[in-house]
Order: sequence, then structure tokens, then C-alpha cells
Amino acid sequence: MELVFATNNKHKTIEIGRILGENRTVKSLPEMGFKGDIPETGKTLEENALQKARYIKNQLGTDCFADDTGLEIDALNSAPGVFSARYAGPEKDSLKNMEKVLRELKNCRNRKARFRTVIALIINNEELLFEGIVNGSILENPRGEKGFGYDPVFLPEGYTLTFAEMSLDEKNKISHRALAVKKLADYLKTLDKE
Ligand code: IMP
Repeated sequence: MELVFATNNKHKTIEIGRILGENRTVKSLPEMGFKGDIPETGKTLEENALQKARYIKNQLGTDCFADDTGLEIDALNSAPGVFSARYAGPEKDSLKNMEKVLRELKNCRNRKARFRTVIALIINNEELLFEGIVNGSILENPRGEKGFGYDPVFLPEGYTLTFAEMSLDEKNKISHRALAVKKLADYLKTLDKE
């Protein structure tokens, strides 16, 4: 069965397709011939994920899902959260975003944070949400070259390596996105059994 992932990111699509297994073919928007931006104006990760999934359902008429992720820092009242990509400005510069977070946490002892992913699925005219969370803390200095976004400053709880020091395989075993996708996959399996 075909499921459209409301994203332009082919890497994410392949990765998620692998987790969902043989019963589902996951197609990204470029593969569906869809061009253009999807509106993303929500105030929460849930609103954004649902907005993107509904938009694509309206445009293409297919069952689909969309994801949205944010870094939520306790001492910053859960910021940057839904604004994680453009925290330091519209140019979505990862380095500047990270520097802004470190600046705002300067001399702050409470470094607790979490990555949270929300996936919105629209299937058989039903809407469902799946959440994945990984708890951790924000370091004072970046460490590691791998990954993307805030990975060099995020130390997952119970680990000694930052996300940017882990291999992609290691990160994918514990990441927020992987946990949310696993919940999505488990739900789709229950539909296959019906
Ligand atoms: P998106 O919803 O997956 O596009 O994520 C929004 C923003 O959150 C990204 O632009 C990154 O800044 C940040 N982000 C999401 N996932 C990760 C991650 O796994 N590591 C580090 N930063 C992330």
C-alpha cells in the first residue's frame, strides 16, 4: 500500500520506508510530482504536523503522514520548540541556532532538554498523532561532527556521546524520530491484520 510522506527530504523518506517495511511503499512529495511549499504556521508541533498532512491530503487525495520536530529546553520555557529550524533567523542556519541556544543558556545550571517528534497520519479518513521523545541535556560546548541541527550540543540521557558523536545507526536506535516512526509502524501493522 502506498503512503505519501509530506516532505521534500528524500533521505528521511528512505529511512522511514525502511522502518515501515515491505507492506508500505513510502513516497516523498518530489516522487509524487508535487512541487511547492507546504504551509507550516502552527504554534505547536502537533498543529504543524496536522497542517502539513491535511494540506497534502487535500492536494493529492492520498493517505499520508507528516512530521515535525523541535528541541525543547526546560530553562527556556520549552524554546526553541516549534521554531527550532529558524531560531536565529529565517535563513535556518544550524550553527547560528546552536550559538543562540548556548548564549541563552550561559551560566544556566538547568541544562535539561528533549527532542520531540510528532507524526500526523491521515489514513482511511482518520487522523492520528504519534509522539517520540528523547530526553537529554545541552552541553556548554559543541562536540562531534556527525548529524545535523543541534546534534553537537545534545547529550542524550544515559549516554556519554552527543548525537553528533554517534554513528547514524546508533542515533537511529534511540532518536525521537525513530521512536515516533516505530509507533507509526506498529499502528500500521495493526491495520494490516484487520
Ligand atoms: P524538522 O521538523 O524535522 O524539519 O526539524 C526542525 C528542526 O529541528 C531542524 O531544522 C533542526 O534544527 C531540529 N532538529 C530536528 N531533528 C533533529 C535532530 O535529530 N538533531 C538535531 N536537530 C534536529
